[in-house]
Amino acid sequence: MSKDKKKVRVEMRKNRAKPPRGNDLTRDYQADAASTDESHSSERVRAKGDLSRHRTVVQDATADEPGRLSTGDAIRGRVLRVHGLASVVEADDGRIFRCAVRRLLKTLATDERNVVTTGDVVWFRPAVVEVAGRGPGIGEEPEPAVPEPSDETEVGASGPTPDPRSPTPAEGMIERVEPRHGELTRASRRREQVLVANVDQVAIVISLVQPTLKPHLIDRYMAAAEKGGLKPLLLLNKIDLADPAELQPMIGAYAQLGLPVLLTSAQTGTGIDRLREQLRGRSTVFSGQSGVGKSSLLNAVQPGLALSVRSVSEVNNKGRHTTTYAQLLRLDTGGWVVDTPGVRQLALWDVRAEEVEGYFRDFRPFVALCEFPDCTHTHEKGCAVKGAVARNLLSPRRYHSYLGMFHGTEAE
Ligand code: GDP
Ligand code: ZN
Repeated sequence: MSKDKKKVRVEMRKNRAKPPRGNDLTRDYQADAASTDESHSSERVRAKGDLSRHRTVVQDATADEPGRLSTGDAIRGRVLRVHGLASVVEADDGRIFRCAVRRLLKTLATDERNVVTTGDVVWFRPAVVEVAGRGPGIGEEPEPAVPEPSDETEVGASGPTPDPRSPTPAEGMIERVEPRHGELTRASRRREQVLVANVDQVAIVISLVQPTLKPHLIDRYMAAAEKGGLKPLLLLNKIDLADPAELQPMIGAYAQLGLPVLLTSAQTGTGIDRLREQLRGRSTVFSGQSGVGKSSLLNAVQPGLALSVRSVSEVNNKGRHTTTYAQLLRLDTGGWVVDTPGVRQLALWDVRAEEVEGYFRDFRPFVALCEFPDCTHTHEKGCAVKGAVARNLLSPRRYHSYLGMFHGTEAE
């Protein structure tokens, strides 16, 4: 793949019920991708019998590098949500497209479960050019018209099957995915699944009462944020029900760890302006236990925001399990809120025992001083972390959180 372009001759298998194995590498890749998709989604279009056809597709060999798109009519956008095989993409100019993913991108670019995920920055071509034009698409040979959507396009993977020949400007084909930063992931069948990409920060929402504050949860979210490369932001909500003066020691402790702390009340509006400021121009995921006030805060930031979360999932539900999918919601003031049903529960934030130490930044100066290089800071002699706790150089509460996470006993 040293040249910019490569031509790939692919056999399009029509019946993928039994993917052939061992013929060649490409086939194996395709079979893997197909079976993965099928296990992930019940919305896949039907296979079309035993027909087989060939097509040649030109793609950027360096497709993963930014700024290398060579042909002119691709549009840049952000994936708002993914339903089955269709991605809802908002173009930079605000237009909404329903996009499929080019098969070659799926099979050649990566073996990830989701090639395209919520939050991805993608380049796509409007389907009008490619599917409805009836001439050869970009870089493609003419192909026999088929009465159903082709496997290649996979447009209309969920919902009623559209006629692939009718010009539907709101559809498109994703050609390329920009490199990601800031990911929310979860382990899924031994693989890591990216739920949301390009998230900048996580707003850790904690309520002081109803439900009562659980400091170890803050440490857990902070570790998870660190793991995902996200900037944490602490929202202490429902301060109308608490005495802010009593909170000062804790606020100070977290501020010392470099964690910005906002006192908010969705009820009285305290701190909402400052929250809005923190959200501007960034992609933020709201995390926290059920009942802490995430929806209320979203609505306080922008009236109707939490409601639109609900209506979007209702509209798309129709018996499908779309609620497991994350979605992006645009803020009027600029920026995005990531609505991630699963992330609200802590189950997603898997951190392995041996990783935990690395996510406690305040431990780092001491870790190097432990007597044993593989010290777990739990029972070892000569542990500098334990020593620091004893001398109050490290917070006993943080150390307690560390132990809980290390032993996996504080998953919630
Ligand atoms: P979520 O599950 O995190 O989305 O929490 P909700 O937004 O649904 O809020 C849970 C409950 O807490 C609701 O009854 C809200 O009215 C209440 N609530 C949310 N924020 C505040 C707040 O700042 N102060 C008070 N007193 N109640 C709040
Ligand atoms: Zn140690």
